[in-house]
Amino acid sequence: MKIVVAVKQVPDTNAEKTFDAATKRLNRTSIENVLNPFDEYAIEEALRLKEKAGADTTVSIVTMAPESGREVVRKALAMGADDATLLSSDALGGSDTMATAYALASAIKHVGFDLILTGTQSTDAINSVVPAALAEILGVPCLTYARTVTLSDGGVEVQRETESGYLRVKSPLPALVSVTKSANEPRYATLKGIMGAKKKEIKTFAPGDIGADADRLGEAGSKTVVSAIAPVGARAKGSVIQSSDGAEAARQIVDFLIGKKVI
Ligand SMILES: Cc1cc2nc3c(=O)[nH]c(=O)nc-3n(C[C@H](O)[C@H](O)[C@H](O)COP(=O)(O)OP(=O)(O)OC[C@H]3O[C@@H](n4cnc5c(N)ncnc54)[C@H](O)[C@@H]3O)c2cc1C
Repeated sequence: MKIVVAVKQVPDTNAEKTFDAATKRLNRTSIENVLNPFDEYAIEEALRLKEKAGADTTVSIVTMAPESGREVVRKALAMGADDATLLSSDALGGSDTMATAYALASAIKHVGFDLILTGTQSTDAINSVVPAALAEILGVPCLTYARTVTLSDGGVEVQRETESGYLRVKSPLPALVSVTKSANEPRYATLKGIMGAKKKEIKTFAPGDIGADADRLGEAGSKTVVSAIAPVGARAKGSVIQSSDGAEAARQIVDFLIGKKVI
């Protein structure tokens, strides 16, 4: 059984983000990048599936990122993944979500898979589209928002989180599953894991090495265009209601909400 986990390099949540005015792209080189926190749950789930399934199961990491993505996949390797693939090239810069999904799908196809695990979203672009787009391009079932993942009878079964509970969804393999934060508590890398990760292989490919169609990549291959970027306006100061009379304070809150057309 070959499990592939797609992980993304994202700017550290606390880092101050700036945009390049000319390209309208996020400046990713001047800030500290980290493993997308949502992807740690997918890695943990893959490692738990491997622990249950036994020695024949492997966990491979795939990422599309600049060279700095190497550090991010090291963390996944230190957690216990077996190997990693970095898809990297200047030709990928400016890829929108569909171009990203196409490039990633090409890399995952090249690596080979029975099961693909992803996070549910990235912390920077937050499209939550890549998992479904990947499954569509690869022609496999897509099971999203899984809070449990179980392998049985040559298939996969998940509990899919909903607002009011969960659905039990199953499909044959190969398939793709996006894993939520309720699935598990990701492990910390041990010192042994960190040392071992240094010896694990990180294969690096450019799109041409894996037969990806250059016309579907980068800015030229992207059908969406960022037409403008603007900072978020400063928040107006809030108002504080102070009253020793609870009923009077409640009335003022209700009047305020009616004024805002919230109720
Ligand atoms: C016009 C345009 C230009 C853009 N230019 C750039 C650019 O130059 N450089 C750039 O970095 N971004 C660029 N982006 C953003 C980029 O398209 C998105 O980051 C990408 O599509 C992933 O979407 P997301 O982060 O919302 O992922 P989501 O759909 O929210 O992610 C869900 C899951 O998919 C997987 N995943 C997502 N992205 C990757 C990845 N790269 N590698 C492995 N797994 C992944 C992870 O498991 C993740 O948890 C651009 C976007 C647009 C619209």
